[in-house]
Amino acid sequence: MKQQPRRAEVIGGGVGGLTAAAALARQGWSVTLHERDPEIRAFGSGIYLWSNGLAVLDRLGVHDQVIDGAHYGQAIETRNNHNTTLASIPVNGAGGVKVLTVLRENLINGLVDAGRAYGVEFETGSAAVAVTPEGSVTFESGRTVSADLVVVADGINSRLRDGLGLLSRRRSIGQRCARVLIDRAPGLVPDADEANYVEYMSGKRFLLYTPSSATQVYIAFVCPTDDTSAQGPVLPRNQWISSFPHLRPLIEATEGKLRWDEFEQTELRSWSSGKVAVLGDAAHAQPPYLGQGGGCAMTNAFGLAHAVSHTNDSLAVGLAQWEATERPLIEHTQRFSCRVARLNNVPNLPRTALMTVLSKSSALGRSRLRAATSVPTGFSA
Ligand SMILES: Cc1cc2nc3c(=O)[nH]c(=O)nc-3n(C[C@H](O)[C@H](O)[C@H](O)COP(=O)(O)OP(=O)(O)OC[C@H]3O[C@@H](n4cnc5c(N)ncnc54)[C@H](O)[C@@H]3O)c2cc1C
Repeated sequence: MKQQPRRAEVIGGGVGGLTAAAALARQGWSVTLHERDPEIRAFGSGIYLWSNGLAVLDRLGVHDQVIDGAHYGQAIETRNNHNTTLASIPVNGAGGVKVLTVLRENLINGLVDAGRAYGVEFETGSAAVAVTPEGSVTFESGRTVSADLVVVADGINSRLRDGLGLLSRRRSIGQRCARVLIDRAPGLVPDADEANYVEYMSGKRFLLYTPSSATQVYIAFVCPTDDTSAQGPVLPRNQWISSFPHLRPLIEATEGKLRWDEFEQTELRSWSSGKVAVLGDAAHAQPPYLGQGGGCAMTNAFGLAHAVSHTNDSLAVGLAQWEATERPLIEHTQRFSCRVARLNNVPNLPRTALMTVLSKSSALGRSRLRAATSVPTGFSA
């Protein structure tokens, strides 16, 4: 008699949940993904995709679709308050690390299409309110379903994770960020910088310039949480121009309503409880200085699907193997990104000296890129 496929319910239609749903369905699971919003959509402008995330997209069959129209910079540069380059990582050259930027909607749409191609069912407007280690999920509507595996990927404010009592640490980094997309136009930055990825630092403020398609550039404004004069629903342009006078045209071109997101770090006692696995920002959020929160969510979701599908042992053994395999690299990446975040608090002069020295360390450079250049577990299976 033909065996019924195992059932998975995935909670959350972000990068982590969508990847988990597609990867599990690819391994033969019968999967339903639940998103509480009325539609699955991207928030947050552009996104950096490194080799690890690109490898997952490749295995899910949507690599080319997602990178259609992507931008390839030649270097990631960090500049000080005088616009002097302190560090420069060459990218996308022969033998160098690969990173490209896309609009977030490209990534989300590609992952939805991957799920559809593998037979994932999508339920939007479907908010989960509780899960149990026995594998049951209750929704706001009052309906309860049960599954062989429940994947919780409901983001940083995960109520489901908290309901399971898995959180061991959640801390604010003390920084906030607003992201906008604006049209690429001549004169926003000097021509020599136009196509590159540039991080500008001045005092405790940080501005990220990221071309993300042929026509759009994504800008992130980062400041301390208590730097209220730099924040607002509309960018206080004069505040930012006073910190970055050389970026006046870019700052003046910034329009629209802003949302300020807190940078946080989360850690769990365990990534699973019974039949429930937790991943993405719900489990391992990190400040975005390495551009790896989404990359880690994708590789972790892909690794989960591999671990629970390629073991002859119980689900519990598969989940334990998954965590033992994936957690060390993800925690390394979290720690590294938290250390980079602290550089924003160093005054301009010592930071210039410090970063000039640090940028010469090839060991540090390799450590920084360890997750970005890693091969996802199960990549060749
Ligand atoms: C400023 C900034 C820049 C970043 N840049 C990068 C980058 O360049 N590269 C990179 O890889 N990462 C980057 N990241 C990190 C990346 O965006 C996150 O790590 C990633 O989006 C987390 O995905 P997720 O699926 O875990 O959570 P989310 O994207 O938060 O998705 C969670 C989903 O679950 C849904 N949901 C919540 N509760 C429920 C519920 N009860 N029932 C059903 N659905 C629910 C939500 O509506 C949402 O759709 C950045 C982050 C920030 C803040």
